[in-house]
Amino acid sequence: MSIKLQSELKEALLERFLRYVKITTMSDPHVETLPSTPGQWDLLHLLKRELGELGIADVELDQWGHLVARVPGNLRDGEVPTIGLMAHVDTSPDMSGVDVKPQVHRDYDGNVISLKEGYILDPVSYPELLQCKGGTVITSDGTTLLGADDKAGVSEIMTALSWLLAHDEITRGDLEIVFTPDEETGRGLDRFDPSSLKASCCYTVDGGERGIIEGECFNAAVARVSCVGKVIHLGTARGKLVNAVAMASAFVSMLPRNESPEATDDRYGYYAALEISGDLDKAYVDVYLRDFETSGMERRVEALNYFAKAVEAAFPGGTVDVDVRKQYANMRDHIAADPHIMELLETAVAKSGVEPVRQIIRGGTDGSRLSEMGIPTPNIFTGGHNYHSRFEWASLEIMAEACETLIHLVSLWAEQKAKKSAV
Ligand SMILES: [Zn+2]
Repeated sequence: MSIKLQSELKEALLERFLRYVKITTMSDPHVETLPSTPGQWDLLHLLKRELGELGIADVELDQWGHLVARVPGNLRDGEVPTIGLMAHVDTSPDMSGVDVKPQVHRDYDGNVISLKEGYILDPVSYPELLQCKGGTVITSDGTTLLGADDKAGVSEIMTALSWLLAHDEITRGDLEIVFTPDEETGRGLDRFDPSSLKASCCYTVDGGERGIIEGECFNAAVARVSCVGKVIHLGTARGKLVNAVAMASAFVSMLPRNESPEATDDRYGYYAALEISGDLDKAYVDVYLRDFETSGMERRVEALNYFAKAVEAAFPGGTVDVDVRKQYANMRDHIAADPHIMELLETAVAKSGVEPVRQIIRGGTDGSRLSEMGIPTPNIFTGGHNYHSRFEWASLEIMAEACETLIHLVSLWAEQKAKKSAV
């Protein structure tokens, strides 16, 4: 059924995806409101309308931009758990997402794709492109990101839902569709009330390459390092000035270079100096801490405190304060508590003609936070690649595979529980 179903899904997926990526929804980490940017409302309102047009009566968009649609199942009897499907509407602030002009490369020939301003998308640098030869590849024009992160996920959920509602012969339990703002700033679920969902588990559709499913992610924290110096007229500063800028820079130089994002991979965590700001009097360094293990995270926090003491010792009269704020936690233990959550997902991927590959996320998703709130939420591939970059691209064929995976997943959960109640 895979090939036939996927070709049926493809045009609907493409049409939706092209419409959604053209809406500017870049989030802004420096804005406190939720959503952080007005463009996100445009897409949320559009999705609300489209969910209504699919005949879903219960669609709620709250004041913080959480859109929840509750879709009743079609099973007559048997207790069936509700599952959720989630994606985010914002795009990364790391690269412009303003006025995205998607380019559709049909019958992709496997050669270099030229973008604007002399940029190229080269299969030598990005060999995953070669597996899309003969298919449809979608890029930006090179002046912006594409926004497959996560509008590929949004399109896949909407298309799968629309297909399921048109195919009542496929059994399904109750579904909850959740679209969130500001995933990229990490604040999208700050005001989210998990008791508004009855889902026993949820799946984010916010991954990347073909077949990859993820039930484990980093523990994450951000440390704000505040350096306070002693300011005096620079002309008479000898032996008296304590320069907070120099303190901040000394602090950054103490972060181990072999434990930076660019030096680590796989299960190795890191420290990343993200932003430095300030003046002679006060300077600040924001440091991201990432580790798969809680004990590893504790060690990193301890290390920052030692570095702070070392900077104080090197700059007598100055003070350094480290304030650590937790961002999200590894979702592994929550998800492992019910093996069905990953097993059914693996089966759904395989039924779509794709080999499932379990990986760990060197980052987090809204699913990490939802898992912590008590709703285990692994992550599913979308077919997008090179996120947060002008080189971002998506494969329509892989998007269709992800979309089919969602359809199977919904029906597998219904079957599973129907089987259970029959025993
Ligand atoms: Zn994303």
